Amino acid sequence: MQPKQTIIHLPVYQPGKPIEAVKRELGLSEVIKLASNENPFGCSPKAKEAIVAELETASLYPDGGAIELTAALAEHFGVQPNQIIFGAGSDDVILMIARAYLVQGDETVMATHTFPQYKHNCEIEGAVCIEVPLQDGKHDLPAMLAKISDKTKIVWVCNPNNPTGTVVAKAELEEFLQQVPSSVLVVLDEAYIEYCSSPELSDGIEVISRYKNVITLRTFSKIYGLASLRIGYGVGHPDVIHAINQVREPFNTNRFAQAAAKAAVKDQDFIAYCREQNAKGIAYLTGEFKRLGLDYFPAYGNFIMVDVSRPAKEVFDSLLRKGLIVRGGHALGYPTKIRVTIGSAEQNAKFIAALEQVLQEVAVQA
Ligand SMILES: *Cc1c(COP(=O)(O)O)cnc(C)c1O
Repeated sequence: MQPKQTIIHLPVYQPGKPIEAVKRELGLSEVIKLASNENPFGCSPKAKEAIVAELETASLYPDGGAIELTAALAEHFGVQPNQIIFGAGSDDVILMIARAYLVQGDETVMATHTFPQYKHNCEIEGAVCIEVPLQDGKHDLPAMLAKISDKTKIVWVCNPNNPTGTVVAKAELEEFLQQVPSSVLVVLDEAYIEYCSSPELSDGIEVISRYKNVITLRTFSKIYGLASLRIGYGVGHPDVIHAINQVREPFNTNRFAQAAAKAAVKDQDFIAYCREQNAKGIAYLTGEFKRLGLDYFPAYGNFIMVDVSRPAKEVFDSLLRKGLIVRGGHALGYPTKIRVTIGSAEQNAKFIAALEQVLQEVAVQA
């Protein structure tokens, strides 16, 4: 037997180590995970209540079309229900987009370094991935535009970008979208947008009202704090949503996720609280990085990429021994940087204390 040619080179996804495993292996009683951009404040209490209430119907298939959740989100954003598609995380929506739009030999344009799932899913479909280097950690939209050819089907823009945390300015994005051919789908991944909503930044929901060839991706995994339930969504033109729906698995989102997400959308006070705490965390961490003489990319999500001027793997390992899990840049294309999730005030302070020790222990990169 032979699996299909397009997957032979693909690695199996390596998740970060779970907290429990790190505790056991290193004999630590306290471990803080700031590696996966999870919400340190959990989720809305209303979402928890909704999950519990749903236990009664665990034996029944969920509503495949997620009708009630769709209605709640459509109202929240002021769009039509046929403009929304749900996935088991926005990862699933990325997979469905690749499946719906790409065949062998098509081209697709994306940044490097950015969220790895774009490339992963496009390669499975046999598409040719054209990767355009970031400039100062930011998408180089003019260079990406220049790579669009007659074969291009999809362009991926991650805003804010993971792993760098940077955003493209509203005017830059606008100029780019005006020039992208209407036959090319632009995927605007806004997994962290709720952390940085500001009039100076573009808002995908507004963008999709003017561009039929743009779909914005959002998720309940980040600011909504529901990562374990696996629910995310795309908002775009009804024709695009229809095409993606054609490849969607019948019951791709579960009852608990749908119920929790519906309750969570209605609790915007919780979201405002998390956004505020996150902004305080960014202010604290950047202040500390300055004190320590470390450069960093401007952070617009719930994580920050900082240059530790030392081999990232060594800094990662030393932090781990002190009970702090971060993402080492060595695995993300940044050999002297680490990406750290903004935690609670207490977690942030513990991270800085540990980092300060580590900077003394690990030699500066020559
Ligand atoms: C976390 C993340 C996602 C997907 O998260 P899901 O849990 O699958 O919804 C998508 N894009 C980016 C950039 C992310 O960081």
